[in-house]
Amino acid sequence: MNLDVNTLFLVTIYVEAILGLLLLFAWAQNMAIRAVAWWGFAHLIRAASIVLFGMYGSAPDFITIDLANSLLFTAFAITWTGARVFDGRPVEPVYLVTGAVLWLLVSRLPALTDAIEARSLIASGIITTYTWLTAWEFWRGRKEQLVSRWPAIFMLFAHGALFLLRTPMVAMLPFSMTADKMFGSVWLTVLSFEALLFTISIAFILLAMAKERTELRHRTAAMVDPLTGIANRRAFLHDAAEMAKRHIANPRPAAVMLVDLDHFKTINDRFGHAIGDRVLEVFTATATKTIRPSDLIGRIGGEEFAAVLYDIKSVEAVAVAERMRETFAHVAQSVDGRPVNATVSIGVVHCDGDVLDIAELLSQADHALYFAKENGRNRVEVASLEMMLKRNDDAMGPLAGPDQIQASAA
Ligand code: GH3
Ligand code: MG
Ligand code: MG
Repeated sequence: MNLDVNTLFLVTIYVEAILGLLLLFAWAQNMAIRAVAWWGFAHLIRAASIVLFGMYGSAPDFITIDLANSLLFTAFAITWTGARVFDGRPVEPVYLVTGAVLWLLVSRLPALTDAIEARSLIASGIITTYTWLTAWEFWRGRKEQLVSRWPAIFMLFAHGALFLLRTPMVAMLPFSMTADKMFGSVWLTVLSFEALLFTISIAFILLAMAKERTELRHRTAAMVDPLTGIANRRAFLHDAAEMAKRHIANPRPAAVMLVDLDHFKTINDRFGHAIGDRVLEVFTATATKTIRPSDLIGRIGGEEFAAVLYDIKSVEAVAVAERMRETFAHVAQSVDGRPVNATVSIGVVHCDGDVLDIAELLSQADHALYFAKENGRNRVEVASLEMMLKRNDDAMGPLAGPDQIQASAA
């Protein structure tokens, strides 16, 4: 295959410019992710640097080598800054120009003015450093589960490694770019071709990351309760339904818990809504620590929470509920220095059947909760048949009726 370097240069300039504009266009449509604009500018600046490189021989070396390299390094620095912005880290203006300034200073050293290999080593080192820093930023943010993060890290790492590889290759192989034009141009062709492929891939991967982040945020907003950070009612019922489906294949005993804050209206009235919110956060923290990570929990109403404990015996489920109630009563004696003395009432129902009927279990847990409130609050009650019969006789109750829960769970 014959690849002419001049053609490659022209194609690369065109592709860089188009990708830069594409990223800027994508940013204009969704300005929430500012990193996309940084990445767009990086491509445009890289296009400009290649224009200058292409003028080698027909313009002063200061423009076609010094300025072109400075622009190229700045472009890589901008991509890195974009990665920092993407993961919410501050912009460091100094680092944006560090590579360019370093290059201009070092290449001015009398010992290096004519040492082409040494200058190329320095240039490679700067590019590898920026590229690996970008990969590292994405690696640091890996807690945010974006699938496209991984190809981005891989591409950046590989691109940086290739540039670093150039260093020992140049040192090992007995050629000088000026003396051996043929080999020099083969090397240049390979690098230019790789740079072209890299720039296309990375632009699309970065765009995919931005898109994936936007979708993840929308999905999260629809499923997560903004105050407590746990599943909202919709997500909880969805997850419980999924659990019920899996249960059919491999039935295990399970328990459903319904929790309601006691006299929460009074807490709000006495200490203010903000403290009320803090109490809900404190309860969520206590509850999530009490259950196992594989259990489900959700905020299904203003001050009502539900949990599904899976693969658990009846006595264990009651013990978990008791521990939750007790721990919360202890930690919520004082919230943000205010003596709120918040407590919860909990209704529990256990199920060891082949079918996990979430709506039915929530309804029974609600009966138990009703009795926990009736019997004085700050207590755990377990659903029983007598309870169901007694509740049916009771026409009125302070809590949402089972029909309501059943209707929303359906
Ligand atoms: P009970 O012991 O019978 O459950 O009494 P209660 O006062 O907790 O029950 P009630 O249903 O009368 O009041 C619930 C209160 O919860 C009323 C509402 O203002 C409050 N609430 C609901 N959502 C929030 C919230 O997000 N933040 C705060 N601070 N309060 C909330
Ligand atoms: Mg309530
Ligand atoms: Mg309440």
